[in-house]
Amino acid sequence: MTQLTIVNPATGQTLTTLDCDNADSLAFKAAAARRAQAGWAATPLSERQAVLQRFRALLLERKPELARLLSQEVGKPIAQAHQELKGFLGRFDFLMQRAEPVLADQLVYEEAGLQEIIRQEPLGVIANISAWNYPWLVGCNVFVPALLAGNAVLYKPSELASLTGLAMVELFQLAGLPADLFVSVIGAGDVGQALLEQDIDGVFFTGSWATGQRIAAAMAERLIPVQLELGGKDPVYVCEDVDIAATAAALADGAFYNNGQSCCAVERIYVHHSIYDAFVQALVGVVQGFKQGDPLDPETYLGALTRGEAQSALLQAQIKDALAQGARLECGGHQADGPGHFFAPTVLSQVKHSMRLMREESFGPIIGVQAVADDAEAVQLMNDTEYGLTAAVYTPDQQRAEVLLRQLNTGSAYWNCCDRISPRLPWSGRQHSGLGLTLSDVGLLAFAQPRAWHLKSAG
Ligand code: NDP
Repeated sequence: MTQLTIVNPATGQTLTTLDCDNADSLAFKAAAARRAQAGWAATPLSERQAVLQRFRALLLERKPELARLLSQEVGKPIAQAHQELKGFLGRFDFLMQRAEPVLADQLVYEEAGLQEIIRQEPLGVIANISAWNYPWLVGCNVFVPALLAGNAVLYKPSELASLTGLAMVELFQLAGLPADLFVSVIGAGDVGQALLEQDIDGVFFTGSWATGQRIAAAMAERLIPVQLELGGKDPVYVCEDVDIAATAAALADGAFYNNGQSCCAVERIYVHHSIYDAFVQALVGVVQGFKQGDPLDPETYLGALTRGEAQSALLQAQIKDALAQGARLECGGHQADGPGHFFAPTVLSQVKHSMRLMREESFGPIIGVQAVADDAEAVQLMNDTEYGLTAAVYTPDQQRAEVLLRQLNTGSAYWNCCDRISPRLPWSGRQHSGLGLTLSDVGLLAFAQPRAWHLKSAG
């Protein structure tokens, strides 16, 4: 049996080894999930909610140990691990509250002897292939509404967040979720690929564009729903009328929180030329103040690079390319000390769009800052990307911001904020950033298929 070695990226130490799934175990799990799903679909929503509520209570009880596990497994600062679990609870509560009204039967027409009703029915057994950067948050977007809507879930965590995935399964079991309804699938990308070959009714994927595209191509013949939450190269435009210090602090956090390993992290900053030098100076000041080190230290802001070696190599290649093309290194630019993989927070100025730094997703503690002549140039550069997840404009002038944001092709538009997701709003990407959406009432409906009921009484 293939084994997966789980390594703490901050120390390089092996935490444990796990047995991986294979084609036989996957077929067994998928068949069991299908049997379990039929009973779950017939269970009233209020009873499903009661089970999920017990899951929530258990999570709350075990929050400190779950945060510690997450921190050790992915190198996330412990304070941010707690923050992620808090965020999970907020999303969870919203989805629980909205399930009843959103999934209820809708009587859309009535006349003597005739009713027309839209009824939301579950998809069946869904595959949830997830990412490691926020396993609780991106998991919540999928498995909570999926279970509420009456589906079974085959949950494949990233190999880098497998222990957290197993902890989720344990909590569901303790909460009394029927067996085989939420099942973990352990292994690397090849196991994810094998999962797609099972008898499933939908695929909900969070991860990179490259993998998402492969999955969409592989599933095309099956004609089942495929949703993709993918990467980004999210831009921000800083107008000349901002409070420079406050904006620099907000954008430093937007770019470096979770070590920049967020799908909606700020990845490109454009600044009106008239305040460019002052803004860069303020940004560098904030970034140099970030505390990097042991993720278990509550004061740490920058933890380890989860993907270690590979991510570090990508960041170094982007820096080398930028410097060769005339960028200026303001701070960082190298691996930081530590037994594990740490990367010094990096700011590059004098950048331009021919540089890899401004085109490829970096997914690390690095940011490029470019001067622009005016609003028109800012819009042109912000749209010069294959991605389309979020975009932000900082200015006190709401009308100016809305005019600019309307011209940008992204799933989310931010005025004076960034790197934020609300459970009340749809979360979606355009172009290479994804297909379909999660969260909000619409995201709940993604896990159901509306069926048309034409009910005519006899006679
Ligand atoms: P990957 O695409 O590398 O992996 C995502 C998941 O797919 C993992 O579980 C992975 O397994 C699995 N996988 C890999 N290859 C295959 C395959 N051929 N078939 C099926 N499954 C496969 O992404 P990362 O985990 O590195 O996540 C980072 C990316 O996710 C970034 O681009 C980020 O922007 C994006 N993201 C997007 C979000 C959004 O909401 N839009 C939210 C969070 C992240 P394994 O890890 O075990 O190899």
